[in-house]
Amino acid sequence: MPSALSPSAFTARAPDLAAYRLAAEPYYRPVGDEIAVFEAAWRHRLPVMLKGPTGCGKTRFVEHMAWRLGRPLITVAAHEDMTAADLAGRFLLTPEGTVWQDGPLTQAVRHGALCYLDEIVEARQDTTVVIHPLTDARRLLPLEKRNEQVAAHADFQLVISYNPGYQSAVKDLKESTKQRFIAIAFDYPAPELEAEIVMREAGADAALASILVAIATCSRNLRGQGLDEGASTRMLIHAGRLAAGGVSLAAAVQAAIVLPITDDAEMRRALGAAIAACL
Ligand code: ADP
Repeated sequence: MPSALSPSAFTARAPDLAAYRLAAEPYYRPVGDEIAVFEAAWRHRLPVMLKGPTGCGKTRFVEHMAWRLGRPLITVAAHEDMTAADLAGRFLLTPEGTVWQDGPLTQAVRHGALCYLDEIVEARQDTTVVIHPLTDARRLLPLEKRNEQVAAHADFQLVISYNPGYQSAVKDLKESTKQRFIAIAFDYPAPELEAEIVMREAGADAALASILVAIATCSRNLRGQGLDEGASTRMLIHAGRLAAGGVSLAAAVQAAIVLPITDDAEMRRALGAAIAACL
């Protein structure tokens, strides 16, 4: 075996994780006891699953927690073509020879970052199992290609997000994966809180924010009647930014909520009518 492929030849140079540190506090408005639960999980380095619909604050929350705990945050958006090597690492051919490059998960494991696997359910199950030995008492990441077992740094923590709304027989987390995590449930915040967030994030005034939240409530009532999900907090913020920037409310709602949420012309008409009735 050439020395470049030998694990012993590999010196785990501490990479500059400075790029993964949050410079300023990410604004996060708590909606329940999620900060206390996360901090308790962190004290025991238990893996955490953030469960909830898209655009309801999961990513912002994990950014906020990384800042609070003073840890770098390495985020990976899972997708169906993602392989275990995309997470763990691979050998690369370079002009200097064959060198091993840690993947984002391995970097986090070696150097003590929070690793956030966003929408983990998108990944194939043979990719997901790579996290199993990391999520129990072993706290190990096996790198088969390097014949190495990486023991997790004391400050490593794994966080995944999971949207149960998209659950289907083919795309779901294995029970054996789910049961390894502390789960924190997320949903769209209560109306007054959501309006506060929209004001802060979109620069909307109180009147505009409360109209947008009323629109969201109407759209969420159509869930299961042709819409998979209603308007998310993210969509309200987008609409708020357009409207606060001078676009008419109707055009902002159309562009930021109605058009992105469904491709079905009939559903768009129904949603448009429901929104008009709400206002
Ligand atoms: P998710 O990860 O659940 O898809 P995000 O965390 O990206 O959603 O949330 C979308 C946006 O909504 C964020 O960028 C942020 O502006 C806003 N947001 C949602 N919930 C909150 C909250 N509780 N506090 C502050 N901002 C929030």
